Amino acid sequence: MDKRIKLHDKYFVPYISQDVLMKAVDDVAAKVNADYKDSGKIPVVICVLNGSIVFAGLLLTRLEFPCELAAIRVTSYEGTRSTGNIKDVLGLTTDVDGRDVILIEDIVDTGNTIIKLCEHLAFRGAKVVKICTMFTKPEVYHYDRKLDYVGMEIQNKFVVGFGLDYDQLGRNIPDLYILDENLSENDMKYYILFGPPGAGKGTQAKLLVDKFGFHHVSTGDLLRKEMAAGTPLGLKAKSLIEQGALVPDLVVIGMIKSEIENNPNVPGFLFDGFPRTTDQAAALDEMLKGLDQSVTSVLSISISDEMVKERIRHRAMMENRPDDTKDEVIANRIRTYHEKTEPVIDFYKAQGKYREINGVGTIEEIFDKVCEIM
Ligand code: 5GP
Repeated sequence: MDKRIKLHDKYFVPYISQDVLMKAVDDVAAKVNADYKDSGKIPVVICVLNGSIVFAGLLLTRLEFPCELAAIRVTSYEGTRSTGNIKDVLGLTTDVDGRDVILIEDIVDTGNTIIKLCEHLAFRGAKVVKICTMFTKPEVYHYDRKLDYVGMEIQNKFVVGFGLDYDQLGRNIPDLYILDENLSENDMKYYILFGPPGAGKGTQAKLLVDKFGFHHVSTGDLLRKEMAAGTPLGLKAKSLIEQGALVPDLVVIGMIKSEIENNPNVPGFLFDGFPRTTDQAAALDEMLKGLDQSVTSVLSISISDEMVKERIRHRAMMENRPDDTKDEVIANRIRTYHEKTEPVIDFYKAQGKYREINGVGTIEEIFDKVCEIM
């Protein structure tokens, strides 16, 4: 029988059964009881929401000493990767000043979250903070601070079930499941079309969309669409552009992210006109990482500066763009490309993702070369 489960785009296989997990909860509870049962202390047991709800609930019913229960929420995990940044600690209404605290976590991975939480509680006056976690990944935990009570040590892989989720799904599964990387549908393609102005990126993009069904993401088009629709983002972008300022990278990245999220059923995305700087390339990498994705390949269509000039002038005439006929405007665009955009090539070369195509030839000839690489 196939026991794997699918949550969103990923498959998980059984890892630790409910019986074994329950035994681990019994063992942890026994250790906590040994420390507190006859201590006369009344600790505050703090459940870190949402992941530790299951573990905290089971543990609590096994504790044999008086204790108070509180809950807090922190945000630190995106997709299947720990970001390690506590963005917020929410909801602690109990006064912990001078109190013994037992922090209940579902899982300690790098330890960033729990250690920052301990510091937060110490800052709020907690006398002693003990860490009690159901799971830990010793391979990645990188703090000297000892974890006081641990249910089970597990391998460094993403797990779900027993309270733990993958993008909010899977918390209700009573056993622990582990990510099956071989089966995950992580083959969405992310291509970047690269090259100087006039290299023919737009033309090739249209052909690629027709042939492969990719979603074309032109940041210029996206901004124009937002502005035309008068969305809050569009209005902000409009006022920046009118002041002659650039739309911040984060805003553009936000737009690209929504395009990706709003088009889950396409075979891939084709970025055109983005990234233009290494900062943007790094921001794009970071955003895709959060979605557990990465750039597949960068296809660069290269032509000489002379040809860039010729093509821009030709296009200016055909599309009635008078600005683009001025020599200094063209020279400026070429300079900006060399200074700001070309370093992006090295960024992707370092990742082994850069592919260059000679942009001299007919549209069909170049398209053949692009398809061959894809
Ligand atoms: P840390 O800050 O220790 O790297 O990460 C702690 C938080 O990341 C946990 O509270 C949990 O929310 C999340 N986390 C870490 N590893 C896993 C995992 O394998 N599966 C799930 N579902 N969440 C995890």
